[in-house]
Amino acid sequence: MKIVKTVAEVRSIVKEWRKEGLTVGLVPTMGYLHEGHQSLIKRAVEENDKVVVSVFVNPTQFGPNEDYEDYPRDIDKDAVLCENTGADLIFNPEPEEMYPEGNCSYINMTRLTDVLCGKTRPIHFKGVCTVCGKLFHIVGPDRAYFGEKDAQQLAVIRRMVKDLNFDLTIVGCPIVREEDGLAKSSRNTYLNEKERVAALVVSKSIFLGREMLEKKAPVEDIKKAMRDLIEKEPLAKIDYVEIVDMDTLLPAETEADTILCAVAVYIGKTRLIDNCIVYFN
Ligand code: AMP
Repeated sequence: MKIVKTVAEVRSIVKEWRKEGLTVGLVPTMGYLHEGHQSLIKRAVEENDKVVVSVFVNPTQFGPNEDYEDYPRDIDKDAVLCENTGADLIFNPEPEEMYPEGNCSYINMTRLTDVLCGKTRPIHFKGVCTVCGKLFHIVGPDRAYFGEKDAQQLAVIRRMVKDLNFDLTIVGCPIVREEDGLAKSSRNTYLNEKERVAALVVSKSIFLGREMLEKKAPVEDIKKAMRDLIEKEPLAKIDYVEIVDMDTLLPAETEADTILCAVAVYIGKTRLIDNCIVYFN
């Protein structure tokens, strides 16, 4: 497995693979990889001849008061995980490689990015769409793998690919959880011992939401029950509890085909997200 830092190196390696007629999968990440990321890489290895993992803490998707500087990084550990999982190439650019001086072009989506996480993080998805669009152009993969953990991101990227005619398939992969239910996340490392225990209320609220959705309870009752559960935890502060249509991200009734039940909750200073996707048809 190789680690490269420039766009030119990625392009020349992928070009050679293409000459041999090989298929290419891409797994975009911000690094500090855990079993959640690993499940995406595994799936990509199963479905493609060659797999590129990008490891890039993307500055344009962090707001001014967010954790860009503090975001955990460990490329050596990431490289071991990628190699052991069967990846062929890590693309680990510096910010200047992705955004050379004078950069002023972005992909700006509307509507889907105004709701859920987009409300609290107004520039986040502009950064996500831009960096994913760039990675799709740089690598030119047949398939790109995204976790359902970031369900809004998955919906946004699917829409972007459709709207802007990117020639690849987006593959969504299920959430990987800790044994006690907490969704795995690089940001879980921010939690102290007490907060780690308190954080369980996030996944518990999602499990409750799923159970009530499957029983076709009214949406407002489900949201209230989830809020009540989270509010019992003193260290938790709700950002949002929403039940929406998975494709449009508009408010859903329980008759919708695919429903996304999603929460964002601050545990202390750490903002955690979790969700479940329930298929009705
Ligand atoms: P990140 O490094 O947090 O930007 O995540 C990179 C990719 O890994 C995204 O597509 C995430 O949705 C996915 N991912 C992160 N955590 C998990 C998890 N616990 N289960 C499944 N996918 C995940």
